[in-house]
Amino acid sequence: MAEQVTVQEIALPKYNLTDEQEKKLIIRQYRCLLKILRPKLKKGNEELIRRAFEIAAEAHQTMRRKSGEPYILHPIAVAMICVEEIGLGVRSTICSLLHDTVEDTDVTIEMIEREFGTEIARIVDGLTKISNVIDANSSQQAENFKKILLTLTDDPRVILIKLADRLHNMRTLDYMKPEKQLKISSETVWVYAPLAHRMGLYNIKTELEDLSMKYLEPQAYKDIARKLSETKRERGRYINEFIKPIKEKLKKTGLHFDIYGRPKSIHSIWNKMKKKGVDFDEVYDLFAIRIIVYSSPEKEKEDCWKIYSLITDEYMPSPERLRDWLSNPKSNGYEALHTTVMGPQGRWVEVQIRTNRMNEIAEKGLAAHYKYKEGSNEEDRFDKWFAQIREVISSQDTDSVDFLQDFKTSFLAEEIYVYTPKGDVKMLPVNSTALDFAFAIHSAVGTHCIGAKMNHKLVPISHKLRSGDQVEIITSNKQKPNEDWLKFVVTAKAKNKIKDSLKEEKRKIAEEGKIAVQKKLEGAGAAFNQHNIDELVNFYKTPSQLDLFYNIAIKQIDLKELKEFKVVGDKIEFIKPAKTITEIKTETDHKPSHKKDSELIIFGESSDKIKYSLARCCNPIPGDDVFGFVSTGKGLIIHRTNCPNAARLMANYAPRIVKTKWAKNKEISFLTGLKIIGMDDVGVINKITNIISGELKINISALTIESGEGVFEGSIKIFVHDKEELDELVDRLKHLNGIHEVQRLDLEEGTIA
Ligand code: MN
Repeated sequence: MAEQVTVQEIALPKYNLTDEQEKKLIIRQYRCLLKILRPKLKKGNEELIRRAFEIAAEAHQTMRRKSGEPYILHPIAVAMICVEEIGLGVRSTICSLLHDTVEDTDVTIEMIEREFGTEIARIVDGLTKISNVIDANSSQQAENFKKILLTLTDDPRVILIKLADRLHNMRTLDYMKPEKQLKISSETVWVYAPLAHRMGLYNIKTELEDLSMKYLEPQAYKDIARKLSETKRERGRYINEFIKPIKEKLKKTGLHFDIYGRPKSIHSIWNKMKKKGVDFDEVYDLFAIRIIVYSSPEKEKEDCWKIYSLITDEYMPSPERLRDWLSNPKSNGYEALHTTVMGPQGRWVEVQIRTNRMNEIAEKGLAAHYKYKEGSNEEDRFDKWFAQIREVISSQDTDSVDFLQDFKTSFLAEEIYVYTPKGDVKMLPVNSTALDFAFAIHSAVGTHCIGAKMNHKLVPISHKLRSGDQVEIITSNKQKPNEDWLKFVVTAKAKNKIKDSLKEEKRKIAEEGKIAVQKKLEGAGAAFNQHNIDELVNFYKTPSQLDLFYNIAIKQIDLKELKEFKVVGDKIEFIKPAKTITEIKTETDHKPSHKKDSELIIFGESSDKIKYSLARCCNPIPGDDVFGFVSTGKGLIIHRTNCPNAARLMANYAPRIVKTKWAKNKEISFLTGLKIIGMDDVGVINKITNIISGELKINISALTIESGEGVFEGSIKIFVHDKEELDELVDRLKHLNGIHEVQRLDLEEGTIA
């Protein structure tokens, strides 16, 4: 008996209920779901939901989650997120309850269709097609992502439920193995959080980012969370002080409003710290205030601006930080007025002003958007967005790996709005160029674009646009796309059209090669047929027949050299084995190493047998949170989990990621860098070098100091044993008089080892 208890404790941490208690728990959760759904229930709905619950509960009966809980608690939780946090209704609840049945149990789509009709069957089918953990290889992940998008444009509820599913999985990720945590988290920040953002689900996006960070950068996450809780009281006091005069003024206006302070998310604070290279204490806008005003539809704008003027009477606004999404809503539907003002004690405070309707859209995104859209003939931004996605997906055979990246930059990025000469507005992703704009107008305008007039000034087609620019495209019939164009367009539409046109061009050129091959073969008495063409493709190892003809046409392959075949009947046969003209290798050609996922590689001991190298993009040192990337030839490459390339690598090459840890080591030193900024003062360099090589006995490899106007900036390359040593050095340097900032330097920015 005692034995059994121990076993269960190991297998099921935190979880040991009897069958009877378990049943009660399930029923209780189910009742909770019904309760929050009650306001939306119509006659007959409850029976349908009960039926879905029964089917799911029976189908998952013997299954358990990694936490040890009965599996059915997961679909119930997903349904609750859909109802409470996304604002979905009865049908989505049924789909949520059934979302894992078809994939994991005997339940079939046909059964669901018979029971609940085609609409629900279609959504469940969409959810089933997106497999849960993308774990094969990169192109499969892109394939999978494409499926998500196809179902998304089909019925947006699929992606909303999928987001709820991902959110619940992230909330319960503690029970997964460490490397699964890394993979799922990186995929979440890479794909799902931007999608949630794009669907206007701000709270869910924020939570997904914070949860991912908890696993990807545990130390930074813990530090910031701790500091936030330590400063909670003080921040609360400050917010109250800030709000008080505004509240009084607002009351006098007779407006009905809510006003409250709101903490910034851990992930956004961390981003700021990294971007600006500052400490937690130096992130200046930790404070944010939200004012929600209950307005009648025709008074919305007026009320928001009235509040704006009232706030800026009290506090000075920062002129470059006014964001007017009232006149120009984001294409995910977001509307609000943001400003940053100087509060008491010289601190910046961000203030967001929006109406209750705008607030609901900001929180519930798409679902709320549709609710308000009904009956209005306002142009639908989501529909437009979906139409664009559909166009790109269906336009061509999207090269899968690129596709993912392209999609992210063109559909999930922040946006700018640019005007045509007639004043029509086009939304484009940030970093779009004049050429992107030309393709956004029409593909024929894009392919013939030779330049642009931006705000009446002539600019090249590669010119980056900014919000508010008015652009006129100049075209010429002689113009046609070239390879270079791909380097400066960001929208998927422009990229695809350019690629199509390049392919078309290649096809035309290849025609000449085809004729040359025909002559050659027939001249030698062989037939110009598929068999012989395939032989040539094999011999020259070109990726395709088209490439063979093309390379012959551009004289990359010289047919005169071709003497090594004999003709048998009308067939050619090669005497010598195939030869290689050019070796074409791509990342995706490499076989991912199928390591069992429980493996944890510990490296860094001097007796180390593992072949590894340290990534040059982030220069990890012992003590950093790191992961290994299985490369071909170079063994394991170690990156910091906060390396600028980390999320991309983990999301795209998940099977090649291995969890790694440093061994304790005091023998080997690692090269790392620091950037130091301070007041230019006689002797400061002396003081710095004194601490480094004198007191701490650390070897300096290089030191450069630039100074001007009383400020100096130095960069030092040093050899340290581990993070502990580096941290101590940073701490000591920071305490020197006149030093403002000391930060870790990524030695070679932008390179990928
Ligand atoms: Mn699920």
